[in-house]
Amino acid sequence: MLGQMMTSALTIQSLVDHAARYHAETEVFSVNTGGGVETTNWGDVGANSHRLGDALTKLGLDPQARCATIAWNNRRHLEIYFGVSGAGLVCHTINPRLFPEQLVYIINHAEDKVLFIDATFIPLVAAIRDKCPHLDHIVLMEGRDEAAAAQIDGLIFYDEFIGGGDPDFVWPEFDENSASSLCYTSGTTGNPKGVLYSHRSTVLHAMASNTNDCIGHSAMDVVLPVVPMFHVNAWGTPYACAMVGARMVMPGPGLDGASLVKLIDTYRVTTALGVPTIWLGLLGEADKVGSKLTSLTRTVVGGSACPPSMIAAFREKYDVETIHAWGMTEMSPLGSSNQPLAKHLDLPIEEQHKLRENQGRPPWGVELKIVDDEGNDLPNDAVAQGDLVVRGHWILDSYFLKTRDETLTNGWFDTGDVATLDPNGYLSIKDRSKDIIKSGGEWISSVDLENIAIAHPKLADAAVIGARHAKWDERPILVAVVAEGQTPSQEEILAIFDGQIAKWQIPDVVVFTDALPRNATGKVLKRNLREEFGEVLMDG
Ligand code: AMP
Repeated sequence: MLGQMMTSALTIQSLVDHAARYHAETEVFSVNTGGGVETTNWGDVGANSHRLGDALTKLGLDPQARCATIAWNNRRHLEIYFGVSGAGLVCHTINPRLFPEQLVYIINHAEDKVLFIDATFIPLVAAIRDKCPHLDHIVLMEGRDEAAAAQIDGLIFYDEFIGGGDPDFVWPEFDENSASSLCYTSGTTGNPKGVLYSHRSTVLHAMASNTNDCIGHSAMDVVLPVVPMFHVNAWGTPYACAMVGARMVMPGPGLDGASLVKLIDTYRVTTALGVPTIWLGLLGEADKVGSKLTSLTRTVVGGSACPPSMIAAFREKYDVETIHAWGMTEMSPLGSSNQPLAKHLDLPIEEQHKLRENQGRPPWGVELKIVDDEGNDLPNDAVAQGDLVVRGHWILDSYFLKTRDETLTNGWFDTGDVATLDPNGYLSIKDRSKDIIKSGGEWISSVDLENIAIAHPKLADAAVIGARHAKWDERPILVAVVAEGQTPSQEEILAIFDGQIAKWQIPDVVVFTDALPRNATGKVLKRNLREEFGEVLMDG
């Protein structure tokens, strides 16, 4: 016997329709590519999404045709998220910081038919357009601009394009498992792989992330997604905010500390989300200009390990709670977030703080497990380290245009991370499996060492890699970027490890460099560091 309840497809367009219906006047502040700020609201974002859906439908595209974006976090991009998916097409967000060859590869692999761009990217797109044979329509996310029209043949202007669309356009009906959006992994090796999200997976992910124990956006919040909309759909923030009618602040191209502090203070931001490097800039600037970030209650930090010193700085100087979250493109991205359990409130405050440092526990909808090299389950005892594998409602089943067998092992997705889990599911990421340092048969976590090093007041940035070693195979070395105006010695830097980890885990040497190489989503390119410094212990 089936239950006798109403059913309707879980769709992305239902999120913006809800926001437009019940939170129509709730503001969306958006920094334009030119730097000015525009104030709009969910009512207008909803109407424009319908207009866009209509305009795209009139182009006569095939169902599920890919419509790509190379754009900042702004109001029009938000409308594209809902209008494209709502019209039964696939919103493919592209990272503009990829090399042009990778951009061409991705656009052709996805067979993108439409490309929405911000003005910043006109030269980039003009240079690659001829190499993208599927691309039929390029839409500049602005009003008419003759200078831009001269650079790209047949350029369409967003405002004119949606001007011809109907704000009462009726969304087509389709299965909730239909593809809604597409994102390629940042891939530090090989060609990027596509992850094709569905309407259902996206809505379930938004529901889970809106629970109190996860990220918990609400109608009371002013949310600043600093994480780009091309990085796993800004971690799903636009969908989650529409679901609850939160105010949004879309930061546009300026992601430096000064711009962010100004946005937070002007628009009374309560929740901001981004990778650790962004917050380094923000904390430095807040200190410099004397801002107390009074409106901010929490930051969501993920994408790379959040150093404990950053969590402490937010807490002690600004009374801001940090939610340390972990996930990946293949997981929509949310896999875990660090929120306490009731029993933790009885612990001494220092222990409570310590518990907030790791990557947290999974929400309903995600299962985590660690396995050994043969795929055997390892215990959740906070000690055993193994390969982290996952499954759940918003985790990929197969990469775009690849098979399930090429993607999963026994129904689980191997994250490529090495981790421990405790009995309550708290996750501690030790490394990417290819970055873990194997010293004389023992494993050393580069993340643990980096977390310690980055707290050194004389360092601006730090990474630890395994360098080849004649006796131990590999030994950790610290690659350090010195803070402005400082000239520390190697001994001074290494002293910070004393008493914090076992002696044999302390890096052998410190090599100083001007800046760490990072990929397009801010992750340190350890492979490049190994190429540059991997032999320093073998010389002489
Ligand atoms: P991406 O798909 O580009 O977002 O990269 C996902 C990878 O980033 C994960 O597999 C982890 O290696 C890393 N990552 C994401 N969040 C964290 C975190 N909070 N701590 C440590 N590593 C993280």
